[in-house]
Amino acid sequence: MGKNEPKALAAARLATLRIDGDRLWRALMDLAKIGATEKGGVRRLALTDLDRAGRDLVVGWCRDAGLAIRIDRVGNIFARRAGRDARRRAVAAGSHVDTQPSGGKFDGNFGVLAALEVMRTLNDHGVETSAPLEVAIWTNEEGTRFTPVMMGSGAWAGIYGVDFIHAQRDSEGKTVGGELARIGYGGDAPMGGTAGGPGFDAYFEAHIEQGPVLEANGLPIGVVVGALGQNWYDVALEGMDAHAGPTPMALRRDAALGAARLIEAVNRIALAEAPDGRGTVGMVALKPNSRNVIPGFAQLSVDFRHPAADGLARMDAALRAVAADIGERGGIGVTVKPLVAFAPCVFDAGCAGLVRNAARELGLPHMDIVSGAGHDAVYVASVAPAAMIFVPCKDGISHNETEDARPEHITAGGNVLLHAMLARAR
Ligand SMILES: [Zn+2]
Repeated sequence: MGKNEPKALAAARLATLRIDGDRLWRALMDLAKIGATEKGGVRRLALTDLDRAGRDLVVGWCRDAGLAIRIDRVGNIFARRAGRDARRRAVAAGSHVDTQPSGGKFDGNFGVLAALEVMRTLNDHGVETSAPLEVAIWTNEEGTRFTPVMMGSGAWAGIYGVDFIHAQRDSEGKTVGGELARIGYGGDAPMGGTAGGPGFDAYFEAHIEQGPVLEANGLPIGVVVGALGQNWYDVALEGMDAHAGPTPMALRRDAALGAARLIEAVNRIALAEAPDGRGTVGMVALKPNSRNVIPGFAQLSVDFRHPAADGLARMDAALRAVAADIGERGGIGVTVKPLVAFAPCVFDAGCAGLVRNAARELGLPHMDIVSGAGHDAVYVASVAPAAMIFVPCKDGISHNETEDARPEHITAGGNVLLHAMLARAR
């Protein structure tokens, strides 16, 4: 773009800019060859040799695009395209390239490669921005080989200390710190989201929805305005083991019956918060688990999700009331133990507005949506303005080798990312 071009003309030219959808799709397919599974999925666990190969491929592409690479102490990678104003914080976009053990080609990889495609497109057209731009690749989002999940973005945002992260071990006893050094991604850049770090002016993350809503509504773009908060519990029910024959119904202290009532109640509590609430009992264990013994003990998991903190609080109160009632009715002791709590995330209205505007100006049908899953953007949002862009995935399926997305939706998401970033950075 010529330096003396009138501003209105420059803006009109920028508005017609589009990513190269075929190039983005090819990059996705090329990256998916690293750790490819027989069923068409990808297995590229964090900090393995395959993760190194995936990182090397993407970092090579970033260098070819003229981007300057920085790696921080937990292996997060930042690839920067300089802006006119070096004092400005970067407008960043990215996601992760590690996958689930039987993962797909798109989860995470789409967000990283869409950000790279934005850089390539701007290079092709000689577009300068005022703020620098960055591609961010976060370490170990999936949390399968090492916990906690979203490790790299959590450390970047100062939620976790670097030493804590380095000390985490996989099932073979190998540490994150050791594996980072082994694969050559233990960097020395400071944790950017913490006090004194470079931070971001804004962060955008493009991602497949991993749910069925956009596909069901026939929409190519979701403007992600937040993520559900989560409360996880263990619930223990203590009754008494007794013989299934001689024990009259009225005299039983049946922990399995209490468990059944609790499962039904979790469903009812979530439905009372429709359409926002989610309630799931995913694990049930009975003791002694014998055909002709009334179970004296039951243990259940409860997972509640809601976009608002007061909604989660109502669900928490309802669970405790139900637990007390079930205990009284059944003559059993019920203990509710909270395990993990993630506060609901509300993305920055300005960033979400840029995503919505970009979709509108591109003529792409869209809706506001709340993410049911956690993402790196949620941790980034705790210290910098952030928002996400969802595109549909086939049948809403993810964390599965059959995970699939349509090329036109991938292109649409890439174009929305391009224009949201440009609007923020120019
Ligand atoms: Zn992901």
